[in-house]
Amino acid sequence: MLAVIAALSASAAMAVASTASRTTAGYPARCLLSGQTIAINTKIARLIAPVTTVRLAHARRVHPALAPTRFVFPLLGHYAVPSNFGSGRAGLDWHHGDDLFASRGTPVVAVTSGVVFSVGWQNLGGHRLWLRDAQGNEFYYAHLARYATAAHNGAIVRAGQVLGYVGTSGDAEHTPPHLHFEVHPKPLLRLGYDGAVDPTTYLARWQQIDMPTLPAKPSPAPTCGP
Ligand SMILES: [Zn+2]
Repeated sequence: MLAVIAALSASAAMAVASTASRTTAGYPARCLLSGQTIAINTKIARLIAPVTTVRLAHARRVHPALAPTRFVFPLLGHYAVPSNFGSGRAGLDWHHGDDLFASRGTPVVAVTSGVVFSVGWQNLGGHRLWLRDAQGNEFYYAHLARYATAAHNGAIVRAGQVLGYVGTSGDAEHTPPHLHFEVHPKPLLRLGYDGAVDPTTYLARWQQIDMPTLPAKPSPAPTCGP
């Protein structure tokens, strides 16, 4: 198990180190994106997937409130809300997210506005990425078939913006296509990877959309204020 976490961490660190510095250089502390203020962490290059974790025998059954900002369902289209968090999984004590089954190539979108990080390959998650919102909550997407152009380390994205496409990469190679989706509320980040909580309660409340949010301009660069 420790080896698994170590592999995840090393992979994450490498992914960030390779690209984050060039995508975030020069960003001011706060920027405006389509009228919504988003706190931009000027040390975003240090954002990586959990490096260490406590070892919880069972998932925590808590649902910390997220900020009252807009959240959307992570898949484009309409779906029944899954509930397979916490079940046993090979290589892990418990399933850290919900599996959202959908046709291969279904667009995967940002559940809220924030910053994308740890974009790249990880042996379990395959083509995976993380999203961090302005409040510090983090969301994990795994098993993508491929990434959208917006998905790069340090990218600022809006709720509903396409990040990638459903696939079977990583250890989902022999399963039906699905998105593995995790919620890591800020108050539990201190627990590392085991700070994941059941996404189902959140997913049930989030708006399911048919059309992605498109960037106002071809370039995702924000208009920055003072
Ligand atoms: Zn899963």
